[in-house]
Amino acid sequence: MMKTTVKSLEGSRQKLFIDGRFVAPKNGNYIESFDPTTGESWYHLAEADAADVDAAVAAASAAFRNPAWRRMTQTDRGRLVRKLADLVLEHADELAAIETRDNGKLIKEMRAQMRAMPDSYHYFAGMADKLQGETIPVNKLDMLNFNMREPLGVVGMITPWNSPLMLLTGTLAPCLAIGNTVVIKPSEHATASTLALAELITEAGFPAGVVNVVTGTGRSAGEALTRHPGVAKYVFTGSTDTGRRIAANAAANLVPCSMELGGKSPHVVFADVDIEHAVNGVVSGVFAAAGQSCVAGSRCFVEASVYDRFVEALIARTGRVKVGHPMREETDIGPLALSSQLTKVESYVASGVREGARIAAGGKRPQADELARGWYFEPTVMVEAQNDMAFMRDELFGPIVGIMPFSSEEEMITLANDTRYGLASGIWTQNIDRAMRFANRIDAGTVWINTYRSSSFMSANGGFKESGYGRRGGFEVMREFSRLKNIIVDYSGAMQDPFVIRLK
Ligand code: NAD
Repeated sequence: MMKTTVKSLEGSRQKLFIDGRFVAPKNGNYIESFDPTTGESWYHLAEADAADVDAAVAAASAAFRNPAWRRMTQTDRGRLVRKLADLVLEHADELAAIETRDNGKLIKEMRAQMRAMPDSYHYFAGMADKLQGETIPVNKLDMLNFNMREPLGVVGMITPWNSPLMLLTGTLAPCLAIGNTVVIKPSEHATASTLALAELITEAGFPAGVVNVVTGTGRSAGEALTRHPGVAKYVFTGSTDTGRRIAANAAANLVPCSMELGGKSPHVVFADVDIEHAVNGVVSGVFAAAGQSCVAGSRCFVEASVYDRFVEALIARTGRVKVGHPMREETDIGPLALSSQLTKVESYVASGVREGARIAAGGKRPQADELARGWYFEPTVMVEAQNDMAFMRDELFGPIVGIMPFSSEEEMITLANDTRYGLASGIWTQNIDRAMRFANRIDAGTVWINTYRSSSFMSANGGFKESGYGRRGGFEVMREFSRLKNIIVDYSGAMQDPFVIRLK
């Protein structure tokens, strides 16, 4: 049974999870986690440092060598991952409540994520017994040349606060199925659900040390993990600036990374669509999760002939978006997860106005008394936007969309690609030729046509440009989390000339 609940977390001190046990940090330090609906501290998490990270990596390295894991059959490993899936499903609603309390995202969205997550574990569990190499021709008789695929070793995973368990699943499940061991550093702003998952990992029967969780800030636990020489690969999901720093740390030990970073995704609307339909798509693309989504379609380009009509409909629809407490079923937008996010969003809206944009909807904190203490911000539409304004260039991670008209397909594609990011993109049109031209020319890892934010763990996803590298999802992850070993066997029995390498 999972002991961690919203109730048990209240006022508690959470420990680290190392080598199958919950242990206090060696330095005795704890930091606060805040409830975004009130701005008040609700539990303390351990602030791990290099000594704890050392212990976690040592436990993961030992587990990687432990025959109980290393020599477990692939089928049995898959069975363990499936068991974990069942436990996640059993505790889905409690895990959702924990995340909502920690990051302020809607309970209805978190519940849907948690209830869908087991499918993803089941999908990747199926990879455990499908990891296979290949035989390769060799220009020599009586020789066998083949590539074997094997796990990497200890994988370091650093996750953000916006969907902690869902974003972890896409990498944790395949890593375990393949036979790696893992050290996870969750965000200090939403740590509790990952610690709760650690309980389920033990209950599922994974050997001690296969999964470890070190908590704390990026400055302390994160830096120690990304500088550790005992890690074989880093998987990072978070902001581009942090990703750059982690990649530099990892480079010192020549450790490869997989980077899922930020975005400033374009959302394009052509005149041939049903305007209400497109408005709904744009609203969902940028205001869902209060804009705290890496794929948020925060730059919206609308064909000039319908621009006025579109903006009017968007303002009307934005006015009906309900800002409120995330535990209420009728709420559309909860608070931002961090007080620093709120300040950042406010300052970018103000700078946008100074640079010549106009607030057509929202633009401030909501006035209602019950929202006054939380970190809420109204869904905001900025018109007369230009691509070179700061709020159109930088990722805000808030409910803000900038709108611009375009007159030709050529102009649209130039505007859409004018960003240092390349994570996602969306287009609304009934013209399939045009949609496919867009798909061909846009520099983004994901293209949505007449939909936005739809995703599948069965397909490989990831960013271009400063949105990162490496792919999550689909069979591609098998390559991401395993390595090839080339093996050549000479079964001719013939003596080899010791001084001449046989090239043929
Ligand atoms: P962040 O970069 O501030 O933090 C992410 C993680 O990195 C946290 O666990 C943090 O403690 C850790 N960290 C910070 N500094 C570190 C350092 N020097 N060394 C090691 N670790 C360090 O990001 P965030 O604010 O938690 O999340 C929001 C960002 O994540 C946005 O930019 C968003 O676009 C991005 N994101 C991307 C995806 C994707 O799939 N591309 C998904 C979700 C979020």
